[in-house]
Amino acid sequence: MNEKRVENVIIVGGACAGYTAAVYTARAELEPLVIEGFEWGGQLQNTTDVENYPGFPDGIMGPELMQHFRAQAERFGTRFISDDATRIELSDDGVHRVWVGDTEHLAKSVILAMGAEPKRLGIPGEMELAGRGVSTCGVCDGAFFKGAKVAVIGGGDSAMEDSIFVSKFASELAIVHRRDEFRASKIMVERARERENISFKTPYVPEEFIAGDDGKIAKVRLRHAETGEIEEIEVGGAFVAIGHTPRSELVRDQVEVDEAGYVLTRDGSTRTNLAGVFAVGDLVDHTYRQAVTAAGTGCMGALDAEWYLRDVPPSPEAHWAGKAGEAQGQEQVEAEPVR
Ligand code: NAP
Repeated sequence: MNEKRVENVIIVGGACAGYTAAVYTARAELEPLVIEGFEWGGQLQNTTDVENYPGFPDGIMGPELMQHFRAQAERFGTRFISDDATRIELSDDGVHRVWVGDTEHLAKSVILAMGAEPKRLGIPGEMELAGRGVSTCGVCDGAFFKGAKVAVIGGGDSAMEDSIFVSKFASELAIVHRRDEFRASKIMVERARERENISFKTPYVPEEFIAGDDGKIAKVRLRHAETGEIEEIEVGGAFVAIGHTPRSELVRDQVEVDEAGYVLTRDGSTRTNLAGVFAVGDLVDHTYRQAVTAAGTGCMGALDAEWYLRDVPPSPEAHWAGKAGEAQGQEQVEAEPVR
């Protein structure tokens, strides 16, 4: 009878964090298997110009950047399954199981990199005008709205932060929120209030993003939450900043997560509460959420997995030791001097 292959590492998620973890684990000759999802590429797949990813001084289109990440992982022998993981069974006894449909894959370690999704308003025009004036990331896209009138939807810290950033470029910015009170911290609201070109429009509920003749956003239709009165405001851009949802649904009842569902990691590493299970990228990060920070933690996850797998067979002790495993007499490769 054929013994089922047990992978060294399965990476679940095909975007900045997952592909970076693949580059590193592939170069470490761990032959990673990436379950990248049917719609691989993550949030950058829906982004146009990316101007803040280091190494691309002229900027790069989001989907093209993702193709580069993927090709780099492939170059070192990464294998990909371009479908969604449908079930994940993590264990503390050294073998984890990931299903894609009916097919089961076994692994000694798993790097969870499923990311997070921006929450959507679910109103007409929102998806149709994505990339044509409607954005979910102020820090990424704010600079494209120089001199434009824009609206930022939301009343939390993300909305305030996006507004403060985008107001450096926009001529006028309206923060549209459905209540008169803000969930955001006082200091963030104050900072937004201090900016001369920011105004507050409350309590208003966005009902529709309306395109102009050029196919780009031209107006937002708002409804007053108390009187029901309808108003349309002219804009050249709109940012939806109403929070994110981590895509942790397949593992939420197995690894420790916070109250919002973000996976918790330990001691500044990517180690979860389960031996051999690591979590990276936006799945753990509700603060920075940038392509470059996701890639950075993808690298950390790969190194954490590599250090864990150095113990043969890997043990929970190796998981908790992390890099300390090196100091415990394991074989070291002498580094080549950098020239
Ligand atoms: P959040 O705190 O959950 O706020 C989401 C906001 O969007 C709320 O004001 C909410 O309104 C509004 N909203 C939600 N669904 C809506 C809908 N369908 N229509 C209209 N409005 C809707 O999310 P967040 O601002 O992304 O912050 C998440 C976490 O990250 C927080 O803990 C935050 O402090 C942290 N964060 C911190 C910083 C910072 O410190 N610099 C920056 C960003 C984020 P209601 O209030 O009416 O529910």
